[in-house]
Parts: sequence; C-alpha cells; structure tokens
Amino acid sequence: MSRRTAAVLVTGSEILLGRTQDRNSGTLARSLDLHGVRLERVVAVDDREEHLRAALRELVDGGYDLVITSGGLGPTHDDRTVAMVAEATGRPLVLDEGALAEITEIVTGYAAARGVEVELLLPGARKQAMVPEGAHVLSPSGTAPGVIVPGPTTVVVLPGPPTELQEVWGRALAHPALADLLGARPERRILRIWSVPESTVARRFEELGGDGAGTETSICASRLEVEVVIRYGPDEAAAANALADGIAAEFGDAVYAQDDASLEERVVRGLAERGWTIGTAESCTAGLVSARLASVPGASEALLGGVAAYANAVKHDLVGVPEELIAAHGAVSAEVAVALAEGVRARLGCDVGVGITGVAGPGGGTDAKPVGLVHIAVVGPDARETLERRFPGDREAVRTNSATAALHLVRLLLDAS
Ligand code: ATP
Ligand code: MG
Repeated sequence: MSRRTAAVLVTGSEILLGRTQDRNSGTLARSLDLHGVRLERVVAVDDREEHLRAALRELVDGGYDLVITSGGLGPTHDDRTVAMVAEATGRPLVLDEGALAEITEIVTGYAAARGVEVELLLPGARKQAMVPEGAHVLSPSGTAPGVIVPGPTTVVVLPGPPTELQEVWGRALAHPALADLLGARPERRILRIWSVPESTVARRFEELGGDGAGTETSICASRLEVEVVIRYGPDEAAAANALADGIAAEFGDAVYAQDDASLEERVVRGLAERGWTIGTAESCTAGLVSARLASVPGASEALLGGVAAYANAVKHDLVGVPEELIAAHGAVSAEVAVALAEGVRARLGCDVGVGITGVAGPGGGTDAKPVGLVHIAVVGPDARETLERRFPGDREAVRTNSATAALHLVRLLLDAS
C-alpha cells in the first residue's frame, strides 16, 4: 500500500515538563489514519527558538508529504511557530488583511465582554495575522488562525488548545489545498479481543500468513484487550477478510467487537436493546464502572446509579451486604462481590447489578489476599457472571483493569441472555 506520509510537531514547554499531557498528536494520528495518510513521526519540542527552528527544519526537509504543527500561535512574542515555519519554508511573513479583519472582530467582541481596552489587544491581533507569503489562512476557533503552507512538503500550522486544534484541523481537511494529499480512505477490519495475550493473537496472525502486499495490520495490547486493525487497499478485501475471519474464528466470543465502538458503548447499547437497567456497588473502583457507563451519551436510559461502597459500613448500610458475610469471608471475597451485586440490584430495583471488591494496593495485601486480587460479580434477571483475578501493576492499573473486567462481565451476561 503506497500512502502519503506525515510528521507532527507538538510544541510547548509545558508538555516537556510533564505539566500538560499531549492530546493533539493522538487527535491528528487518528484523523490521518482515517484519511489514509501514514503518520511516521511525532516530535515534541519546548518553546525555545533554536529548538523549534531545528525541529522544523528537520521535518520540513524530511521528505514528508505533510508536516503538521501544534501550538505556539498565541498573540505574544514567545509564540513563534508561524514565524519559524515561514523561515523553514523560505517565505517572508506578510500581513493577511482578511485574517486581520477576522481577528480584530473577535478581539473586539472579547474586549467588550471583558471590559478590556481593545487597543491593548490590537498589536497581538496584528501579530497573529502575519502569515508566510502564499499561505492559505484557516479561520480561527479562538483567536489564532491556522495556516496551510503549500510546497513539496505541505505544512499545516494549528493552534495548541485541543478543542481549537480539532476545529481548525477540520477546516484544513476540508480545504482544497489538502485535497490531493488525503488519499482514498483505506478500508479497515477491526477486531477487539478480550483477555487473550497479545503474543497469542500475533502467533495466530503469523499462522494465517501475516500481511501480504495489500494489507497492513497493527496488533496493539492495551490493558486487558488486544486490538487488531487490518487496513487494506481497494482490491484487497479478500485478503483482509481471510485474516480477520481467521483471527475471529480462533478466539470465539473473546472477540467482543468488530467496530470502533468502545466497550462501554457496547454495554450501554446492549442494555438499551433489552430495555434493561443497571446499577453498581463498587468498593475498590469506587465508581469507575458507573463513570465509564455514564461517559456514553444516552447512558441515562440504562444506568440508574451506583454506590461507592468503600467502607464495610456502607456495604452493609446502603447495599445490604450482611455483616456476618463480611466477618466470615472478609470484604475482599467472592461472596461479598455477589452480595454487593445482588444488594445494589435489589436496592435500586435494576435488572443488572455489578459488585466489585478488591485490594488496589500498594498497602493492604496479605498472603491470602495479595495486592491486585479482585472479585467481581454481575447479576442479571436469570444469570450471573463472576470473576476472580489477580491484576498486576499499580493501584491505578488494578482499579482500571477491574472496571474493564466488570464491563466485560456485563457484556458476557448480555450476550448470553
Ligand atoms: P494560545 O493562544 O492559548 O497561547 P497557542 O496556539 O499558542 O495558543 P500554546 O501556547 O502552545 O498554544 O498552548 C496553549 C494551551 O493549550 C496550553 O497551555 C495547553 O493547556 C494547551 N495545549 C497546547 N498544546 C497541547 C497539546 N499538545 N495537548 C494538550 N493541550 C495542549
Ligand atoms: Mg501560546
């Protein structure tokens, strides 16, 4: 598959200091993938002029079809990206009257709303309206316009704040200057597989012959899941389907999705299809499962609520877990997980109850109940799913994996009913 290539340059000292987590390269990576462009490099640099200059020079001369920059478009002197791109592409900076008019209007409204003298903002507006000669200007989302600089390597300059970047990148995608770069979208087959080691999936992929000339497969493990994405050209559907179907056949109902829908979307959809409601009683995850369900638009049709049942008194008083049961088996036990699920199901009057209890760590582990031990129960109208697992990793990993596993148990319950 021959594809256009791209590099992304993320700027900002706050990112290199670990203060801000870079979200923009991920946004651009996913979008480029959907548009058939192969992202080959992501570079992050701080705001120092010589670092920015060197990185831009390297990428602009790097033979990519497309270089996209993020950040450094603000009105102040230390926002230098546009000037550095002008330098790297050998174009003088010129005032774009259209951009100036647009930015002036925006800052005039801003000044009026905040009671600021507009004259104070006009020099910044003028600075933001300076673009490399011959560049195309993309209307701002905040105050900073984006810029497309055509050339053997097309450079797209985007603002740093993630929502602004997304909006202005959307305008770039629709701009005729990028039309030739965005290929036909490659077709994709996606398989999402639960709780099978990545190496096992990779071995199956090799047994099936791996990628031929027409397919490009990525196998990626994240937490408890393995995602296989097979991208293929217009005439390669048969090869891609042979691979995907061969993998799907091997792993049976561990293959929980063949589309982009998230696990929580699948669960909410499955509940809504059956007209079922759900509630959670979560000890060690203290609400992660209900929060993940609530992240899906329309979750209110299914999610009644949840109890962060951390203390034993709350397990007993609010969820109705018998004190004797906790005394007999300990709070982290299969029995208490089932009692949490049954209790929340009864108290909230929902169709499906989820109970989770475990040792998130780093303290609190014993020989019998080590850190990472988690019991999960999902109880439905006429079936239940339970799981005991010992998750590796730190507190965050144990809690997140527990929530993911609980959502999978709900999925399995739904699939079985
Ligand atoms: P501004 O006009 O706000 O200065 P800008 O285009 O100059 O915008 P930056 O100064 O680089 O952008 O970043 C502004 C803010 O946007 C940062 O403080 C940060 O909160 C956020 N931001 C920038 N880049 C990223 C990124 N890659 N990922 C997540 N957030 C980012
Ligand atoms: Mg800035």
